Parts: sequence; structure tokens; C-alpha cells
Amino acid sequence: MEEITLKRTVLNVAGICNLKCRHCLAFIPYYKEKWIMSASEAEKLLNMYFQVVDSVDTFTVTGGEPLLNPEVTDILWKVCNYKDKIVKSMDFVTNSSLAFPAGLLDFFEQNRDHCKVILSDYGKSYSVRLKDIIRDLENRNIPYRISEFDGDNLYYGGWIDFTNHDLKWKTIEERDINSKKCIHSTGKYFVINEGCLHRCSRSYWRMKNGIIPYTKGEYVDLMDESVPLEEKRKDLLVMLNSVSSTSCAYCVGLANDVPRVKPAQQLQQEGCR
Ligand code: SF4
Repeated sequence: MEEITLKRTVLNVAGICNLKCRHCLAFIPYYKEKWIMSASEAEKLLNMYFQVVDSVDTFTVTGGEPLLNPEVTDILWKVCNYKDKIVKSMDFVTNSSLAFPAGLLDFFEQNRDHCKVILSDYGKSYSVRLKDIIRDLENRNIPYRISEFDGDNLYYGGWIDFTNHDLKWKTIEERDINSKKCIHSTGKYFVINEGCLHRCSRSYWRMKNGIIPYTKGEYVDLMDESVPLEEKRKDLLVMLNSVSSTSCAYCVGLANDVPRVKPAQQLQQEGCR
């Protein structure tokens, strides 16, 4: 069967966050059930992911806020077992509000040739540990970059509001045209949430919440033992080769021409639909 190479996959290891960003790309504040991935779950999941996928350029560990997962360092070591299949980098994304445990800094120091830490900067009120983290990373010569989400020079101009899930594109042609502008569609980007591989967190959220049906060839349940490996690979190839999916019909898309909103606006309490 054809080799499967992805540009990026994001593994969500914590369906919880200490912030409540209204426009969270992963909708974390809106989930009623919070969850945290254990290291043993990660081990099984990674074993299956790297059978389904032959290689990935960048493999990113994040959440929610990954530092709320007490086993996050163990999980990163398990990802590291597959570094031969991770072509460019193992990335780690945090909201810079929590301290890095010493073991995590040790991990990044020992694997600095393969890793990059990405620090979201939501400003002084939220990213309260940013300076301390930068100091620790620089002291250990660990590669990092900052995604600026505060001030006048916002990363990618700010965030996009994906919280409206109404049908937006009525025909396949319309949804294909919009999806061709979306970086998830064009960039072979994928996410893993609760063991399921999707094109994006919007697709995952919309299926989980019944906005769209679970459609074969639009997601891969990596942990479903009733589906043989070859079938999972075939389903992923269908995803890779389609211009758009059902979810794209309900979506503005992650594209340059979509209006931006101020990042990290905090919610009180409300629903998302
Ligand atoms: S258009 Fe929306 S649903 Fe479709 S891949 Fe892009 S972000 Fe996901």
C-alpha cells in the first residue's frame, strides 16, 4: 500500500485547561467531561498511530494545557521512541502559565536536537510563567519560540472564531472551494483527540456533539480494535486525498482571509452551539 506521510499531527494529552479562552481552537472550555491521557494510553495510541502513519514531519504534544497532565514527561519519552519516524521535530505547546517540572526540562535538554518548545504568550495576566520558562530553557540551551497572542503584533493576526457551527456551504463545490484555503486541508495537518485521528479539532467536536455524523473516511478511530490496520490506513488515505469533509461545510476554515478576533478572551460560563 502507498506510503503515508503527514506534515503535522497534534496529540492532545489533556482535555482540560486552567484558562477558559472563548475562541479556543480545540473547544476545551466547552467540553462537559474533562479528561487526561495516561502514559499507558499514550503508549498504545502511539504504537497504533505509527503503524497507520509511516512518517510525520512534525509531531506536536499539547492540550488543552499539557502541563496539567501529571504524566506528560512520560508521554514525551514514549513519543521519543518513534523519533526515527518524526522527520523534523517533536514540538510541545503550552500556554506559559505553569512551571515546567525538572524532569520535563531534563527531557528537552537530552533531546534538544529533536525538540522545540512553543510558548504561547497571552500577556502578563495569563502567561504568568513565561519569563521563568524562557530563563530555564535558555539556561539549558533548549530550542523554543514564542507565539505572540498579546499586543500589536499578533501571530497570524490573531485567532478565528469557530464557535458557530451552522451550515455555511450547501454544495460540495462550495465547501471544496473554502476548504482549499484551509491550512488543515491543504497542509496534511491532523489532530488526535481521545484516540481518534481527525483533520482538525472542529471535525472532532462536530462529530462528538452530533452536529455531523461519524462518516467512514472522515476520521480514524486508532483504538478501535475491531477495525484492521489496513482498513485504518485506507480510511486515512481517503482523508488525505479528499479536498474537504462534511465538517468543512459547517466551517469558516483556518485561512488567511477569515477575520481575526482578539486571542485568549476569557469565558464566564456559556455553551458553544
Ligand atoms: S475547513 Fe474547518 S472543518 Fe474543514 S479542515 Fe479546515 S478547519 Fe477543519
